[in-house]
Amino acid sequence: MANEDKFKKVISHAKEYGYVFQSSEIYDGLSAVYDYAQNGAELKKNIRDYWWKAMVQMHDNIVGIDSAIFMHPTTWKASGHVDAFSDPLIDNKDSKKRYRADVLVEDYCLKIEAKINKEVAKAEKRFGAAFNKTEFLATNGRVLSYQEKIDTILKRLGQSLEQENLADVKALIEELEIADPLSGSRNWTDVKQFNLMFGTKLGASAESAMDLYLRPETAQGIFVNFLNVQKTGRMKIPFGIAQTGKAFRNEIVARQFIFRMREFEQMEMQFFIKPGTQKEWFEYWKETRLKWHNSLGLGEENYRFHDHEKLAHYADAATDIEFNFPFGFKELEGIHSRTDFDLKQHEKFSGKKLQYFDHEEKESYTPYVLETSIGLDRMFLAVFSNALVEEELDNNTTRTVLKLPAVLAPTKAAVFPLVKKDGLPELAKQIIEDLKWDFNVFYDEKDAVGKRYRRQDANGTPFCITVDHETLENNTVTLRYRDTMEQKRVNIEDLKTIIRAEVDVKHWLMKM
Ligand code: ATP
Repeated sequence: MANEDKFKKVISHAKEYGYVFQSSEIYDGLSAVYDYAQNGAELKKNIRDYWWKAMVQMHDNIVGIDSAIFMHPTTWKASGHVDAFSDPLIDNKDSKKRYRADVLVEDYCLKIEAKINKEVAKAEKRFGAAFNKTEFLATNGRVLSYQEKIDTILKRLGQSLEQENLADVKALIEELEIADPLSGSRNWTDVKQFNLMFGTKLGASAESAMDLYLRPETAQGIFVNFLNVQKTGRMKIPFGIAQTGKAFRNEIVARQFIFRMREFEQMEMQFFIKPGTQKEWFEYWKETRLKWHNSLGLGEENYRFHDHEKLAHYADAATDIEFNFPFGFKELEGIHSRTDFDLKQHEKFSGKKLQYFDHEEKESYTPYVLETSIGLDRMFLAVFSNALVEEELDNNTTRTVLKLPAVLAPTKAAVFPLVKKDGLPELAKQIIEDLKWDFNVFYDEKDAVGKRYRRQDANGTPFCITVDHETLENNTVTLRYRDTMEQKRVNIEDLKTIIRAEVDVKHWLMKM
């Protein structure tokens, strides 16, 4: 399936099977805001739990908090978000549409990259098994000139943005003759910076109301609580504080479904360390986070690191874990060595000391911080899009199956009576009553069993249990596995143990 078609299928499947809905759909929706439906909310919760268990429960020196979305407005002055959390935007005077200037240029480069991919596909067809992609990319004249063009454009874009030379960003757009993707017009305004924070007000009367922001990241709630947690939890460095929660950004280019949203959820962990040890911890967390991802079995080839050359003002090293989404490799998680920037800034703006007294070294210092920050919605998209497959079966039919990792699947087992009589529904419901203490289970008696299997395949349910007339005689049922479609006869008393072995967090996290 072409990538674009695959992505469309992901979006429609997410809606059809009750995973993700457009927010306020009956009012024609709200752009870049989404609701998680009955199955989506379960999948999201399971991903969050999987992260929390790995991060907090399995680390003696990491604790979790839940700080408020509203924070004192000075927080965002100290963190730099008031002055520097912005994107360069440009308006098209004819269509009145607004774009991120850097994204327009990057999309232009993606089109050149598509030409490279076309050359590769052509050559692959021509040379067959003898084709060596690495050598082709390194030697083919046409590919090299395309690549050089991309590199030159991106280098100039990077430099202009770094030097805040927005006039040059506009000049670049004009030189490349980039047109509005919707109207085709090249009638652009100047490029301006646009702050991404949403503002709101706290307080009843207009005079006394205080200007607030909806937090654009969860990290600052951790920094301002650093000393509270360290003291009350008697934490010794190195230690971490984790939290998951909503963050809000007024994204200019909001598309790609739940990849880029205006209201989204982050899972962040700030690890406080001794200055000078940041390089080792950076490597440690890169490796540990990649292991977490790989434990879910989405395919090691679908992840790659993208080390930042251009670093944010507070960082001395940074990398993204990129995932192969249906629209290509894009950032899923960021790992940043943030130095002591945040704590020092909060010290400066609050006038309170935020230092750690090291009893062994008998000295106080401002800890350095290593951050891991992953978008829960992006992880949802990674898991969901990777799981959705169309499978050709032996009898020349196809089936749609959502091969979610069993530990994350919203429903663990569906229980069916083969027919709606002879006491089979009652028996199936008894099994449900027993299993529901341990797992999310689902009862279905409508349509032929084959059809019910297909529905659960498309829904991502790892197990189906069918009660038939033999069950009445010997207490056994048919257990069907989603991925292999294997069916076996098992005792009702063994169901719990069999299911638990496959869906237990321990079974999955042990692979780390
Ligand atoms: P991007 O470059 O894609 O805008 P970012 O570098 O601004 O992302 P960070 O500030 O590092 O992102 O945030 C950490 C994580 O939060 C990201 O890796 C991503 O998974 C998630 N995230 C950031 N912005 C959004 C968004 N608008 N919608 C969904 N998830 C997001």
